[in-house]
Amino acid sequence: MTDPIPDRYAVIGNPIEQSKSPFIHTAFAQLTGQVMDYSKLFAPLDGFAAAVDAFRVSGGHGMNVTAPFKLDAFAYATHLAPSAQMAGAVNAMKFEGDKVYAENFDGVGLVRDLVCNLQCPLQGRRVLILGAGGATRGALLPLLAEQPAELVIVNRTVAKAQALATLAYQHQTGKVPVTGVGYEALQGVFDVVLNASSSSLTAELPPLPASVFGTGGLAYDLTYGKGLTPFLKLAQQAGVTHLADGVGMLAEQAAEAFAWWRGIRPDTAAVIHKLTVPLV
Ligand code: NDP
Repeated sequence: MTDPIPDRYAVIGNPIEQSKSPFIHTAFAQLTGQVMDYSKLFAPLDGFAAAVDAFRVSGGHGMNVTAPFKLDAFAYATHLAPSAQMAGAVNAMKFEGDKVYAENFDGVGLVRDLVCNLQCPLQGRRVLILGAGGATRGALLPLLAEQPAELVIVNRTVAKAQALATLAYQHQTGKVPVTGVGYEALQGVFDVVLNASSSSLTAELPPLPASVFGTGGLAYDLTYGKGLTPFLKLAQQAGVTHLADGVGMLAEQAAEAFAWWRGIRPDTAAVIHKLTVPLV
């Protein structure tokens, strides 16, 4: 008997060498006994649609999408899930004939990491999120669905934080207060502080007062693999002992995509363990 031909998946980006997705999905396939092949696909900046077309013609079943193509994928999709619509961006696609189904699993991956892996329930807690880019946009509705007491978005460009706050308040099913502010207007202490700005990619510290950190709370940097970032260091110096980076979010959004494609949800613990960089 011949071996079955593996179903093909890929992650597309530019650059793409740094992507952990092939490692993660290959590990998930082994864990769940799925016969699939997952590769990296580099596309020129103006060549997203042509690269995806070619992948589909060659039998591709689905794709993850990373920078800078999440908006291109949004435009390319024929069927956008509510998560992708709210995020204004797509990070996973599934191909069925002419149909291109599109999702954004970043937000649900973040919440699953917070609530399930880190045992940090959000209900009734004050949550602060730094940044008003794509990651924050995708995270807002899944965060609000957990019914925190309040959600504050803080951003350098204040108008972006305010616009996102208005959008999220209108689209949520509950009535959690959501506000958008600049760093100088931040007040009070928060139970959960999420750094969804890209400051840690360049080892910069947002102009965040250390007084925002509740000592019994959680400080979480969505950027992963950078160890103790300036943001996490500030939290640590402010007395926060529960620190985490976004490696769990990365694994959980991948597990959501895997389950969507294959109908089986892999356990993420081994992958998270393997990819974790100590926070020192
Ligand atoms: P965007 O480029 O869309 O947005 C970046 C945001 O960061 C903007 O709001 C920008 O502010 C703010 N910012 C940039 N530099 C600074 C700084 N030095 N100080 C304060 N604010 C700053 O990025 P994304 O939203 O796509 O990604 C944000 C981070 O989240 C990245 O580090 C990314 O790696 C991480 N991420 C992690 C994921 C995971 O699975 N763990 C998934 C997705 C993202 P302004 O608007 O004023 O310019």
